[in-house]
Amino acid sequence: MTIDALARVLRQVDDLAGEMIAELRTVVRIPSISGTDDENTGQAHMSALFGAGGLDVDHWRIDLDELRAQDDFPGMEVARDEAWGLVARLPGSGTSDGATLMLNGHIDVVPPGDVDAWTDDPFSAIIRGDDLLGRGACDMKAGLIAAHWAVQAIRRSGTRLRGDLLLASVQGEEDGGLGTYALLRRGWRADACVIPEPTGLDLVPGNAGALTFRLRVRGHATHASRRLEGVSAIEKFWPVWRALQQLEGRRHRDVDPAVAKFGLTHPLSIGTLHAGDWPSSVPDLLVAEGRLGVALGEPVDDARRELEDAVADACAVDPWLREHPVEVEWWGGQFASGRLPEDSDLLRRVGAAHALASANGSGRTQDTWIGPYGSDLRLLTGIGGIPTLQYGPGDARLAHAPDESVPIADVIVTARALAALALDVCGIA
Ligand SMILES: [Zn+2]
Repeated sequence: MTIDALARVLRQVDDLAGEMIAELRTVVRIPSISGTDDENTGQAHMSALFGAGGLDVDHWRIDLDELRAQDDFPGMEVARDEAWGLVARLPGSGTSDGATLMLNGHIDVVPPGDVDAWTDDPFSAIIRGDDLLGRGACDMKAGLIAAHWAVQAIRRSGTRLRGDLLLASVQGEEDGGLGTYALLRRGWRADACVIPEPTGLDLVPGNAGALTFRLRVRGHATHASRRLEGVSAIEKFWPVWRALQQLEGRRHRDVDPAVAKFGLTHPLSIGTLHAGDWPSSVPDLLVAEGRLGVALGEPVDDARRELEDAVADACAVDPWLREHPVEVEWWGGQFASGRLPEDSDLLRRVGAAHALASANGSGRTQDTWIGPYGSDLRLLTGIGGIPTLQYGPGDARLAHAPDESVPIADVIVTARALAALALDVCGIA
């Protein structure tokens, strides 16, 4: 690429920084929680933003029934009867032999949790010091907005690209990935993709997976005054829970060194527990929901079988559970693991773009690691066959937590890096 074009585009990003942060605050103020009407409102807002930015916009209503009927549907954990796909394309690009780059970010966010744990309204998008606060600030509206402004900088600088530059905003990422699944079914493809999820500007070329499950433990109800004549579902869950803890330990005996940065690389965790319906009754049903982490490269069916076997083994040694085995149901988000192909040059290219973008930056050294959480990466690399990695602003540890925030300087570096990457991957016409 010519140094002139790069310098022009990076300068354009810097000139747009104020507009970018103002827009990020606007988007964070839309409480686009997965499965709410505001999720669709957020997507409509992004569509209008892309259109106003002069992009060709494909904004379509997703046929959820058709999607759910597919064998490889990635799952959905919240009630949702409306969802929208959104892919925008930089016009005038893709006129010759360059490669196609997709930038893909999700507009949905998780609920704020206990609002009392926040120091301010979770959707106020206040700026405190060097950071912008709010639910979704780092996961991942900052990355999505940075991607939009990277594209805008290229457009406004008048730079024409040889290959196509695509910008996707997706819904339903937090509960399975239906948005990215839908755009792949619609036929959108690219030669490379970056998801600007919060990586602290590190390179994340893969993810462990996560499979949502539900356990039903049966008991026998009686009046609590005669509890010995009943069977408590809570007490019967206890050995099953211990078996799951032991399973988690066994599943971490040999861990891929690429993931070893994290103590537990693919945790098994119970997230909800409901039992009983009356304080003075022996509970006859306990329902537990959780997530089973999938190791990097581990087939999903193998992971499921290990959990089912562990539950069955725990039941086999208990006379009641032998007669009333715990039921295991797989539902909701089913995230396989995913990884950028070893022979892809995307890792090197994004690293180089980051180096160009942060030339006068903090001098922080860039690390490469595998995320312990599921993401859309596995759909793009798997179903789409698109080499994909994650690189974006913010610390993933703050995602889903109170006082989620993103460093404003990192948002600007991300926009600069994505713009430089687009010039490199797509080529300058
Ligand atoms: Zn995310």
